[in-house]
This record gives sequence, structure tokens and C-alpha cells, in this order.
Amino acid sequence: MKLESDIRYLKGVGEKRAELLYRLNIFTVGDLIRFYPRTYEDWSEPLDIDEAPLDVPCCVRGLVDHTPTAQQIRKGMTIYSTRVTDGRSVMRITIFNSKYAAEKLMPGEEYLFFGKVSGNNYYREMTSPEIRPAKQGQKIRPVYSQTASLTTNTIEKLVSSALAQAGSEIGETLPDYIRKEYGLEPLTEAIKNIHFPADRFALDRARRRLIFEEFLLLQLGLARLKGREKTATPVVLKTDHSQEFFARLPFAPTGAQRRAVKEAAEDMKSGLPMNRLLQGDVGSGKTAVAAALIYSAAKNGYQSALMAPTEILAQQHFKTLSGLLEGTGINLALLTGSVKAAEKKKINAGLRSGEISLVIGTHAIIQDTVEFRSLGFIVVDEQHRFGVRQRGALFEKGNNPHMLVMSATPIPRTLALIIYGDLDISILDELPPGRTPVETYAIGGDKRTRAYNYVKKFLDEGRQGYIVCPLVEGSEEIDAAAAQDYAEELAKNDFYGYRLALLHGKMKPKEKEKVMLDFVNGDIQLLVSTTVIEVGVDVPNAVIMVIENAERFGLSQLHQLRGRVGRGKQRSTCILISDSPGGETRRRLEIMTKTTDGFKIADEDLKLRGPGDFFGSRQHGLPDLRFAEMLTDTQLLSLTRDATQKILAEDYYLDDPKNYYLRKAVEELFTRGGRGGLN
Ligand code: ADP
Ligand code: MG
Repeated sequence: MKLESDIRYLKGVGEKRAELLYRLNIFTVGDLIRFYPRTYEDWSEPLDIDEAPLDVPCCVRGLVDHTPTAQQIRKGMTIYSTRVTDGRSVMRITIFNSKYAAEKLMPGEEYLFFGKVSGNNYYREMTSPEIRPAKQGQKIRPVYSQTASLTTNTIEKLVSSALAQAGSEIGETLPDYIRKEYGLEPLTEAIKNIHFPADRFALDRARRRLIFEEFLLLQLGLARLKGREKTATPVVLKTDHSQEFFARLPFAPTGAQRRAVKEAAEDMKSGLPMNRLLQGDVGSGKTAVAAALIYSAAKNGYQSALMAPTEILAQQHFKTLSGLLEGTGINLALLTGSVKAAEKKKINAGLRSGEISLVIGTHAIIQDTVEFRSLGFIVVDEQHRFGVRQRGALFEKGNNPHMLVMSATPIPRTLALIIYGDLDISILDELPPGRTPVETYAIGGDKRTRAYNYVKKFLDEGRQGYIVCPLVEGSEEIDAAAAQDYAEELAKNDFYGYRLALLHGKMKPKEKEKVMLDFVNGDIQLLVSTTVIEVGVDVPNAVIMVIENAERFGLSQLHQLRGRVGRGKQRSTCILISDSPGGETRRRLEIMTKTTDGFKIADEDLKLRGPGDFFGSRQHGLPDLRFAEMLTDTQLLSLTRDATQKILAEDYYLDDPKNYYLRKAVEELFTRGGRGGLN
């Protein structure tokens, strides 16, 4: 069987299972083989009863004391229970409804029980454990992400069969010389061990090999992307005029803003095109940085273009920049989908003649009809919303122009270096003085009504607020429907008589814009929303936010949401509601109540959850890293960085035959990630 064979043809997979596998993005036998376990059940080192931690899945060994007794507690519900012992302690085993499982337990025989132990120091119990005879061998079992009606056990069987039938087809991606130098096992072995490791040692080795590969390929690809764009540009700023611009501002720029402008201005003077990411928390003043550079470009005779993901954001930028650039003699225009044809014509003429120095807009500005006289500087706001293609289309309108992409998603530096490997980075790690941090409270669901009353107090004072809807883990349709119900409920009861509107992902862009605009204008008091609240929208009068199901969000996401308030002079409040007050949940949410520093929060998030969140492919358009959790392993990270540099120094285009597999794998990875080919 071939790795490319359709998964339908694997033994044990019919049409129906194939459909389910497709949903997991498994289309071929090779995809299944590369579908790595989400986690593992370690049966290899069973614990004694009193060693077993409470409420954490683990494997416990015990001798069955007596044949399980059955007790019917109601119709259709029978509980079987017995006791097991390790000679020192005793644990109760409870099994629901499974006569079959119960009858397999023989008194005097030793078994392994996998599950969560509950109880206290005097009493231990395990409910519905998985059970295996102790002598049947003890190993580490893979646990796969499952979908409806496709259990991890089924996937395990299918993977095993796929490996048996196509395992020999697995090629190698890392050249021998690399594997030798870094002590990495062959890919075939690593893949077998990642699914079915003999022991912890084998699992660690396999993991290390696979992460190494992933990091290496990613970094090689990014390094080449970065290198490719650096051909000389005719756009050279003779003089940096940003100081002049700063002097005009009604406020003193922060140290971070000055530094970022300086870094960018140096790029723009260098003769090589700038390709820079400006990262700064909400409110850190990215717009002023862009404005300084736009000013400087204009004084050097170059036009600039600023692209924002939505009409509202474009309008806001237009307003802000009109203010910042007032009296400078720099003409600017707003170009969005809703601009009238006659006006569009005028703007186009102004851009062609050079009379307009700055155009701000949505993707309307990448249309073919838009031409520039001398586009030298591009600013892209909230960059993750644009594909590389859109950035590219704007880029093509100039002659190798400079580019600044702005992002409000704080990402720890180590991570940023990888995700944005093709960009240089400037960070605004300092907020302008005089901001009052958003006061944040984490409360249980029992206090919901009080929270609502608190919100009403603000609304009554003429302020506005947000309520972020409960998360339903379903499709967008289900989420939208649930949000609808929730909003209707609020409108009928707790917020009866208030002007309230709903915003969710299934609404048409035009409808969303309308609601947002009404909110910006103050016609709506309370915006009930799923997580789609526009990033970057500035409504200084919105001072209160309630987030339902706060425990289901990553900290970084909570931070992003919270950034919608606290944008004016007024003190703002954010209330996190959570119905599951477990220890871990509380600890996480407490971080939110203690700091408003986005980078600190991102670091904590990384520690607590791994970087899955940051690497959610929607965010950056890069290939998914299946093993990115290892990012916390800085050693491996720097190892792969070294390897990348060594390889590229020797063979930049990877066309040495010894690097053939590497090149192929890099190209494949980047095509899969939707990033387009490399050459
Ligand atoms: P963001 O980085 O979220 O895009 P903005 O550029 O919208 O932030 O800036 C947020 C607010 O802070 C704006 O009202 C802006 O005028 C103001 N601002 C920016 N820089 C400074 C500064 N150095 N001192 C005081 N206020 C500033
Ligand atoms: Mg902004």
C-alpha cells in the first residue's frame, strides 16, 4: 500500500469512517501515519494505591479481592463493585453497567487499572477504569484526538494497520550527515515510536527527532522566504524626518515608540526593502509609529498606503491620522468598498498624480484600478487577517517598497522569531503614561446577576459595554444560534429596556459593519458578541466587559478581548465569569486579575498551555506545528537554529544532492501551509 493511497482503501475503513477521518484532515494513509497522538496513557509504570495522585489519570496495580457484586440502583443502571489491594492499601473499583467488564475480574488475579483515583487519605476509589490483566504487558498507549463516533481506540487500530501495510514506504527527510551530527533516529523508527513507544525513553527519542525535523524545515523555509525578498530597492529615504514629526505631536512619544521608529527609519534608508513586524499591545501607540514613518516617507517624496482588515478600522485610522498629520501639508484619502464611484475616481487620479501622499483603506486599495505615482511605504494593520497574497498585491503596486506590518497579538520573543521568521521585529513594550489598567475580576456563575447589575450601572451613566457570549463547542452555526438565544434572553430579562445588539460570526460582513458602526456611534449600549468583536476597534466610551465561560479561553485571547475596554480616560472593568471553579482554572484566571501586560500574559499562557494557541494556523498562515509544545525546550530550539544556519551557509538553495530530501520536505510543508511554493 502506498502512502498516497486514499484512506478509504485501508482495511477497516469504509466510506463512513473515511468521512470521519476526512474531518480530521486525514485523506491518505500517509496522513494517518503522520496523525500523531495527542497524549499518552502510561501503563508502563503502574503505581501502588497510596502512591496514586488524586484526580489525575494514572495507572494503578492491584489484586482483586472478590468477585464484583452487582447492585441495581434503578432500571437500566447496575453498579458493579469490588475491592483491590496492593498488600498495603485498598481501593474500591466501581463499574457502571458493564457486566462484561465486571465478570472478567477474577479474585486473586492482578490487574492494571487506568483512571482517576478519587477519595481521601483513608478511602480510595476508581470509577469506570480501563482494565487489563497485569501480566499482559505494560506499555505506553497512544491517545488520539477523536471526533464523534471515531474513538481513540479505533484510530489506534487503524494507525497500527496503516503502519503494517505502508510503514516500509516512509522515506527519510533528514540527510544522514545531520542525523549523525545531532544523534537523531531514522524517520521510520521515530514514527513507529511516536505511535507505539516501547517505553518513555523511546517516546522521548522519537519526539525529539520529529520536533527537530519540524523546526528545521520551518526555519529553513522561513529563512529562504526572508532572503528572497531582499533585493535592492530604489526607495531610499535620504533624510529621516521623524524627529520633526515627534515635535508636532501633542504628546511625548514613549521610549519604545522612538526605538521602533528609529529601527524602521534605518531600514528605509538602507537601500534594502524593510520587512518589519511592529508588535505592541493594544493601546501601545502603533499608529503614531506608522504616522512618523509615513510623514518621513512623504517628506522624501514617497507615497504610503495603509491597509486595515475592516471598513471601521480603516475609518478609525483615517480619523486618527488626519489628526496626527494635520497642518503638515500631507494629503490623505480614505478608500473603502463603500466610497462612491465618483469619489473613487478622484482618489485614483490623486494617487496617480502624486497629489495624495497617503491612502488608507480596506482591501479596496489592492484593486487593479488603484495606481500610485511613487508608492514607497506600506503599512498593514492587524496583519494576521491578511494572507500573504494580499500583502503581495499591495507590494506589487510599488517598486519594491518598504513594509511595516502591525500586530496587537503579543507573542513571546522566542516564538515570534519562529512564527515571523521572515520579518524583522520591533516591539512596543511600554504603554503611554497615564493609562489606568482595566480592573479585572474573576467570579463564579452564581454571581452573574450581580455582574449584570454592575453593567447596568455603567449603562445608566451613559457608558457602553460588551458581553462576550458563552462558548458552545459546535460549528459556527450552532454558536451563532446559541448566541442568538442568549442575546434574546438578556434583552427580555436582565437588560430589558436597554439598547442591545448581537454580533456573531455567521452575520454577513455588511451586517457586522452596521452593528459595529452603531456601537461606535453610541446608538447601541450593550454589544452582545461571540469572540468576533473587531480587533483594534476603539470605542473609548465602552468601559465594561463581561466574558462568559472565561475558563474556556486562552489567556492571550482573554487579553485580546479585554483590550476592547480601557481605551478612554474612564476607569474600565472586566468581569470573567466561570462556572467551573477548579484550582487550575482559578489560577489561570487570577493571572488576568493581576496583570494587564500582554507579553507577561503570553508567557504565562505559553507555560500553562503550550503554544498551540499561538500556532493556531488561522493566526499566521504558516504550516501547523504538530509538536510545537516543545517550544518550551529552548535547547532544541537553538540546536535547530544552529543547524539551519549551517545548512544554509553551505547550500543556500538546498540543491546539493545530499540536501535533496530536505528541499522536498520544505517545499511540501510550505505548500501544505497554503503559503505557496518557495521559488
Ligand atoms: P494601538 O497600538 O492599539 O494601535 P493606538 O495607536 O490606537 O494604539 O494608540 C492608542 C491611543 O494612545 C491613541 O489615542 C493615541 O493617540 C495615544 N498615544 C499614542 N502614543 C502616545 C504617547 N506616547 N503618549 C500619550 N498618548 C499616546
Ligand atoms: Mg491600532
